[in-house]
Amino acid sequence: MGKVVIPGEKLGVIEQYLPGEGTYLDQSGAVISSLLGEALPQDRKITVKPIKDVKYPLSPGDMVIAVIWNSERSQFLVKILALFKPRKLLFKSPISAIIQKKTPENRAAMPGDFVLARVESFIGGDVYLTMAGSTELGVISAVCRRCNVKLNRVGYTLVCSRCQQVYLDRKISDHYGLNPFERG
Ligand SMILES: [Zn+2]
Repeated sequence: MGKVVIPGEKLGVIEQYLPGEGTYLDQSGAVISSLLGEALPQDRKITVKPIKDVKYPLSPGDMVIAVIWNSERSQFLVKILALFKPRKLLFKSPISAIIQKKTPENRAAMPGDFVLARVESFIGGDVYLTMAGSTELGVISAVCRRCNVKLNRVGYTLVCSRCQQVYLDRKISDHYGLNPFERG
């Protein structure tokens, strides 16, 4: 299996690789993954293939990688993409879940963000996640609302490398900017 990469991850530069399916070229000439998947370099071209894997049942306490796709008044709707701990596994298809905006930590994200969250409970067939209780939990990847480029972490803020907009509205995970699949 190739290396697992996350959206926004740099795969190389145009001098090394031509951007194939699942990738794009940014303005600096870097080839960037547009998907969560497996990076497959072949000759001069690199593609990212979405990974399919066996579904693994979730348990309370599990840490998962999820993407926030909608924000409602009292909750975020998210899709769980992978199990981060106890083991790194991608799901065959995303699992819908909810983050209730009950605490400041659980309000500090935006649609489009990738987050590390913990499975809190299962109520009435719904999966509830939380980003509270650990510095590991929170946003691991986010893009500028205006420029759609990945934000860089600067201390406790996120900054757009293009327009310099500073974002103070996220709970930033210790794993921000890192590919969670590379961590033991
Ligand atoms: Zn920007």
